[in-house]
Amino acid sequence: MSRTQHSQGSSDFSVRVELGPRSYAIHVGRDLLRRAGELISSTLVPRDLFLITHPVVDRLHGEALRQGLAGRSVSVLPVPAGERQKTLRRAALLYDQLLALGADRSSAIIAFGGGVIGDLAGFVAATYMRGIAYVQVPTTLLAQVDASVGGKVAVDHPQAKNLIGAFYHPRLVIADSNTMRTLSPRDYRAGVAEVVKHGVITDAHLFDWLEGNRKAVLGREPEAVAHMVRRSCEIKATVVARDERESGLRATLNFGHTIGHALESLTSYRVLRHGEAVAIGMVAAARLAYALGLFSASQAERVERLLSSLRLPTRIPRLAVDTVLSAIRLDKKAVGGVPRFVLPVAIGRVDLVSEVSPTTLRETLLALGATAEL
Ligand code: NAD
Repeated sequence: MSRTQHSQGSSDFSVRVELGPRSYAIHVGRDLLRRAGELISSTLVPRDLFLITHPVVDRLHGEALRQGLAGRSVSVLPVPAGERQKTLRRAALLYDQLLALGADRSSAIIAFGGGVIGDLAGFVAATYMRGIAYVQVPTTLLAQVDASVGGKVAVDHPQAKNLIGAFYHPRLVIADSNTMRTLSPRDYRAGVAEVVKHGVITDAHLFDWLEGNRKAVLGREPEAVAHMVRRSCEIKATVVARDERESGLRATLNFGHTIGHALESLTSYRVLRHGEAVAIGMVAAARLAYALGLFSASQAERVERLLSSLRLPTRIPRLAVDTVLSAIRLDKKAVGGVPRFVLPVAIGRVDLVSEVSPTTLRETLLALGATAEL
């Protein structure tokens, strides 16, 4: 279950992730960075704060956050941008810095950035001194609608994405809508892909709304952005509260990720944004579902049409099909090397399917642009 509260007289709202003693609030609204200190105080009283962030985020929005944290001891630990920083090596450097600065269990980490910073800083918080408190301050749409909520933290392994990680929840999430204005169009659209995902897996109304409001979505109209963030946080909070450790329902959030993750790691995280890879993965999953007789051709076309009208990629970059197949077998949902796919059975409903024949999978990948040989 999730609970949404609207602040009187403003467009701000908060969604609660119900996890018993580990429950936490996701605060969404304008100018929240300037209220960060007050919001943090409502939940925890850290001795000092360690801000893990990208220099570009710090330059654009750090001043507002520092104003919000005025009077507190704050150290900044900068991390260069890019998925290639989400490694154990980078985590080890951060442990060294935290030790040198005297961080202990009374300290808290603030993850101030997109999903890369959120996953990395959350992983460091989960493991430093067996776990210290952390706060997610997501600054990309993708992180506000998905990555900052649910407590999955991880670093990548050279062979596969998010292979080394933990379930470790933040103490609260502060999502300031002002940060959306400075995102690059490409990073913004990559976030919209995860909203499409939420529509396909569980909310046909959200999917219809996206189809009818493409212009407002692409134009970043504040009400459209607020709607996407609110619905996504509610959906994710509900799923996580019901299945915190991904024994069933939560796996549905991986729709588009089995093939998406394979494409990201095979292109060394340089070619596709995470949301772009998920968009291609969702098209592939929709086509697989059609090939297996689970999903109609018209529904599969709707998914593809919506993604391409939101200017997201829908075709596999130049990669050999056998390489893609091998990478798919490393997916965390695979059991004994047999991949399992989250496949749509209707817009708004998905199933976890392991009976996908290698031939069907190969043909689907080839039809989407994978090459027979390199
Ligand atoms: P990202 O963190 O790499 O951010 C994208 C770029 O945007 C970066 O260059 C960053 O510096 C820049 N940026 C961030 N905020 C900005 C702002 N307000 N203005 C201007 N530039 C800004 O990418 P992402 O798409 O946010 O996150 C992708 C990551 O999230 C992947 O590693 C993925 O695995 C992870 N993820 C995790 C979960 C989860 O549940 N833990 C869910 C979905 C995705």
